[in-house]
Amino acid sequence: NTVTIMDITFLNVTKKDFLYDELFPRLNRQQKSFVVTANPEIVMKAREDHGYKQAVQSADYIVPDGAGILLAAKYKKEPLQERIPGYELMLDLLKHANDEGLRCYFLGAKDNVINKTIVEVEQQYPNITIAGSHHGFFDIHDSSIAENIKAQNPDIVFVALGLPRQEEWIAKHSNKFPKGLFMGVGGSFDVIAG
Ligand code: UDP
Repeated sequence: NTVTIMDITFLNVTKKDFLYDELFPRLNRQQKSFVVTANPEIVMKAREDHGYKQAVQSADYIVPDGAGILLAAKYKKEPLQERIPGYELMLDLLKHANDEGLRCYFLGAKDNVINKTIVEVEQQYPNITIAGSHHGFFDIHDSSIAENIKAQNPDIVFVALGLPRQEEWIAKHSNKFPKGLFMGVGGSFDVIAG
């Protein structure tokens, strides 16, 4: 149940099944996960940048975000079931984290954006424990930020460092963590911050 487009292998699943059959059980058993919601920009970037491609390919799950990916799959006569937009997946994970009282860490975006994001999350998801947050303007080869995040023992780490930095940061540092769902969320903090 996968479809490969330009060397990127997508899981062919509905968002609901992805959440309930894959991500929630993995969170429940504290199994580490790296999720990429890949849009055409990510696929094209992977095509031109081998290091980035390796980072994306190291994910546990790549799901299709964008009509262009679904169209490409349809042309291959291997249709994908549906789009799984990163922003929607993030909101579903926040809701689940709120239901389960999980610890969430927010990495990325500008200082004022991340601060507003935290305020919004605290208001809308009061049962989430904010494990911490940090702006997204630092050297991704610096391990100290990852070590600090690890010390906060997060269940979910949302990474909004843009492309290609977010997948590269996760690929480089998630091996330091004993658990955690890691996901690149692009401009989602800017949307939440409003
Ligand atoms: N961002 C960041 N550090 C960077 C570059 C971008 O934290 O070095 C943040 C940016 O502030 C925004 C998010 O990453 O909140 C997505 O940025 P952008 O829309 O430029 O990225 P893309 O569309 O390429 O994913």
